[in-house]
Amino acid sequence: MIEWPDGKTAAAAFTFDVDAESAVLWNPSGDWQSVGARMSVMSHQAYGPLVGLPRILTLLERHQIASTFFVPGHTADRYPQAVRAIVAAGHEIAHHGYLHEQPTQLTLEGEIDALDRGLAALAEVAGVRPVGYRAPMWDLSWRTPELLIERDFLYDSSLMDADAPYELAVGPQASLVEIPIQWALDDWEQYCFLPDVSGSGLIESPRKARELWQLEFDALRGVGGCWVLTNHPFLSGRPSRAAELDDLMGYVAGHGDVWTTSLGEIATHVRALGLAPRRISPPDVPR
Ligand code: ZN
Repeated sequence: MIEWPDGKTAAAAFTFDVDAESAVLWNPSGDWQSVGARMSVMSHQAYGPLVGLPRILTLLERHQIASTFFVPGHTADRYPQAVRAIVAAGHEIAHHGYLHEQPTQLTLEGEIDALDRGLAALAEVAGVRPVGYRAPMWDLSWRTPELLIERDFLYDSSLMDADAPYELAVGPQASLVEIPIQWALDDWEQYCFLPDVSGSGLIESPRKARELWQLEFDALRGVGGCWVLTNHPFLSGRPSRAAELDDLMGYVAGHGDVWTTSLGEIATHVRALGLAPRRISPPDVPR
């Protein structure tokens, strides 16, 4: 595994994807009018920036945890005050597309457009130039890392092939810090229920979700890894889920041997280690 600062044995990060409406508006068919016309569906998503986000900011403040918020440009344009509140609270803002576009479903031009529009919105609304990126749907394309390097990003957090961060080789010279994630540490599978739009069709108990996440924290801590939880304010900002998250924050932050911080801080630390970049190539696919 890798070396953590100040004698810490592992790292942990609470991260939030502030998807709001964008996550259900965008789809590969380009038909976002029909979902946008559904007032109740839009309100389910709007709960995130309107109610969930302020509640989560209060929890982070209480536990003195620095966090990373991945904000699509569309969310920044629609809820500028919410996004500015994240910055004012001292948290990191990172890139998450413009309209939550899934990179693998875009042309090269489409990918470039989503990256650049997202950057422009975050700069205009929050005065932020993010160093981190997370692919919407965690669906990185093989060409995304190079586009990130061209835009001076330091890290990505969308891949699933390790327990701890590493340097991902990009092109002949460059590398991106990769901070791995995993589906078991995401609240979408636990809580998202939007009939004929998204979700598993099940709504789990917050106790069950917290147990799953805490077990993985304990085990990753045991192997010196990096635990990255991904929550969405429109899901985990609901009262009983936020209460369980509050408790989990206390549990994680109560482990003095674990470095609980933002992904930007973790990426900066990893970059300073000077790790040899690791090259990943697409598998050969038999015809
Ligand atoms: Zn998202």
